[in-house]
Amino acid sequence: MRPFLLVLSSPSGGGKTTIARQLLMAREDLGYSVSATTRERRSGETDGVDYYFLPREEFLRREAAGDFLETATYGGELYGTLRSEIERLFAAGKTVVLDIEIKGARQIRRQMPDAVEIFVLPPSAAVLVGRLTGRATEAPAVLRERMARAADELKAVTEYDYVVVNEDLFAAVAQVAAILDAESRRVSRQEELGAVVEQLRRDVIEETARFPAHHSAPKP
Ligand code: 5GP
Repeated sequence: MRPFLLVLSSPSGGGKTTIARQLLMAREDLGYSVSATTRERRSGETDGVDYYFLPREEFLRREAAGDFLETATYGGELYGTLRSEIERLFAAGKTVVLDIEIKGARQIRRQMPDAVEIFVLPPSAAVLVGRLTGRATEAPAVLRERMARAADELKAVTEYDYVVVNEDLFAAVAQVAAILDAESRRVSRQEELGAVVEQLRRDVIEETARFPAHHSAPKP
């Protein structure tokens, strides 16, 4: 199967990062595209695992050098998907999971039309706000900005291929896994299909030859 990109987007607090983490823990066929960002590292985050935390100048230099597949600004900070991440994971035969916001997803859609894009919806505004404030890592002004942006981002849902409502994490992960499994069975992704079917046809033809060519009429 030709590996592909699985884009997960949701407003901040929608739960896409948790879904991505659960999936990656459960499945060997997936790899996570570690993004680059200029934002501050939060406590509990590791450089090279959660993000590549880059100084702004380095981010801009790498952007000018064409190192990114897509970039976007979020809360005044820069975020981008590194081509090298995608290449590394594709070379290892992995389907690549991207946790990115909607403007980045649009750029991916244009450049890689066979990417699969899923929008993760929170079940209610109360849950979204609860998840954002529960995180307790951001200042109130940052939270306010993220919530305003969430209201705006929700409008982008119709641009995506699939929507998953994240009411129950277990169910949401199972739904994303089901989408992945169906997508990996698309005929267009089966590089080896031609050879497999050709061999199958040859075998069927060989088997056919074992049968008598003429219909012998049943004896009275
Ligand atoms: P956070 O700062 O909360 O980790 O991420 C803020 C937003 O940036 C989230 O919606 C996240 O999905 C998005 N994001 C993270 N990495 C990238 C990236 O490489 N490209 C784009 N376009 N968005 C990203």
